[in-house]
Amino acid sequence: MTSLLSSVTAESTNPSKYRAITLHNISSLPQSERLTKDQRFAIDVVSRVLPFKTNNYVVNELINWDEAPDDPIFTLTFPQKHMLQEEHFNEMAKLISSEASRAEIDDAANRIRMTLNPHPAGQLEHNVPVLYEETVEGLQHKYEETVLLFPSNGQTCHAYCTFCFRWPQFVGIDDLKFATKQAQGLISYLKQRPRVSDVLITGGDPMVMKTRRFKQYIDPILEDDPPNLRTIRIGTKALGYWPYRFTTDDDAEELLDVFRQITATGRHLSIMAHFNHPRELSTPAVREATERIRETGAQIRTQSPIMRNINDSPEAWAEMWREQVRLGMVPYYMFVARDTGAKHFFEIPLVRAWEIFRSAYNQVSGLGRTVRGPSMSAEPGKVSVLGPAEVAGQKVLALTFLQGRNPDWVSRPFFAQYDETATWLNELRPAFGEEKFFFEEELEQRYAAGITAGSEN
Ligand SMILES: *Cc1c(COP(=O)(O)O)cnc(C)c1O
Ligand code: SF4
Repeated sequence: MTSLLSSVTAESTNPSKYRAITLHNISSLPQSERLTKDQRFAIDVVSRVLPFKTNNYVVNELINWDEAPDDPIFTLTFPQKHMLQEEHFNEMAKLISSEASRAEIDDAANRIRMTLNPHPAGQLEHNVPVLYEETVEGLQHKYEETVLLFPSNGQTCHAYCTFCFRWPQFVGIDDLKFATKQAQGLISYLKQRPRVSDVLITGGDPMVMKTRRFKQYIDPILEDDPPNLRTIRIGTKALGYWPYRFTTDDDAEELLDVFRQITATGRHLSIMAHFNHPRELSTPAVREATERIRETGAQIRTQSPIMRNINDSPEAWAEMWREQVRLGMVPYYMFVARDTGAKHFFEIPLVRAWEIFRSAYNQVSGLGRTVRGPSMSAEPGKVSVLGPAEVAGQKVLALTFLQGRNPDWVSRPFFAQYDETATWLNELRPAFGEEKFFFEEELEQRYAAGITAGSEN
């Protein structure tokens, strides 16, 4: 017992030694005493249904505990009562209070999960690439230029975002069979699809992988040296959740060496960094990590969804973009929350999201206006809200594609009936009495014919 206690103390005094915090060890967290009994119980209840994991960096260096539970970074990783619908919360609370069996609790949890739309936006069915009539494992291909690679070992994160649309994977109701242990499928695919210029390595968070594992994907790609591959992107939240990955982790230096090897081949390396709140840009650790990454020749681009209770103010966004530009990052996307999980807790009407976007965009210099959005990653493509307008006496909402399953759809303005409450594309109706949006018929035809991005190349 003594040795266990002393090791916990030693760990907590070393801020750069990673420690996951979950339901199992949360009571050992000194800060948990600052929560009320009800708040602690709510964490217990909600985390039976939705995934919960945070870590010592988030808890000690990012969360402002004076403001918890309303603190945005607290809300980012800690479950809260209203993230479940009341009936679901009460059902689960009752089971826990009455000391129901593990099986009963799991049963109820799975039933509730199925009501939370675990598979939004056709990601699984329609983006699986086919080569020589076989699906290529671990890849998704939706937009012509860019293939997504899902490494098996990168399908978790240093902490879980409470709004994450990949939550079904983290609670084990989606298996990870679609992910891959190697790069061979990707390499063959690149040979057959000369129009693909970008590979986006994604997860979860591929930066949870040890460098040794990460190299197992990168080395074969660099060795094969596909001439069409110009850019490697890595989607990661590690700068926000565990910047020590790039500074003091045992294999941080080797990781930066891999980055250098990539840029030395003449390719562009883009770190697609997920930041939700300006505070994530403020610690000495994230500043140092940013500098080290940039020294390798990599560029850092940034993206985040807009979420009620976390970053639904123009000030938060303007500050993020200004700070990112100052640190040498390129603001890239503002996303709209997908219809899944705790959506009711985070969702913002599209019109409101656009107001926040515009008001933040107005406040930053042109170098911050590389950002685009608010954008929905919807079935037909990435659809951005251009804003309300009046056309021929009718109030409408103007939209456009930033990416489309058919590239020809991109950058055409189109119009929906003005709707102040709609939170997603499927809640919008075409304006001017039209039956369908211009892309809908073709989208159905493409699905019926099994056309994916790759099959057209
Ligand atoms: C966003 C996205 C990409 C990348 O799109 P860019 O506009 O090039 O950043 C690629 N594939 C999928 C499935 C995406 O959602
Ligand atoms: S970092 Fe990304 S994948 Fe990981 S929990 Fe957050 S949103 Fe989900």
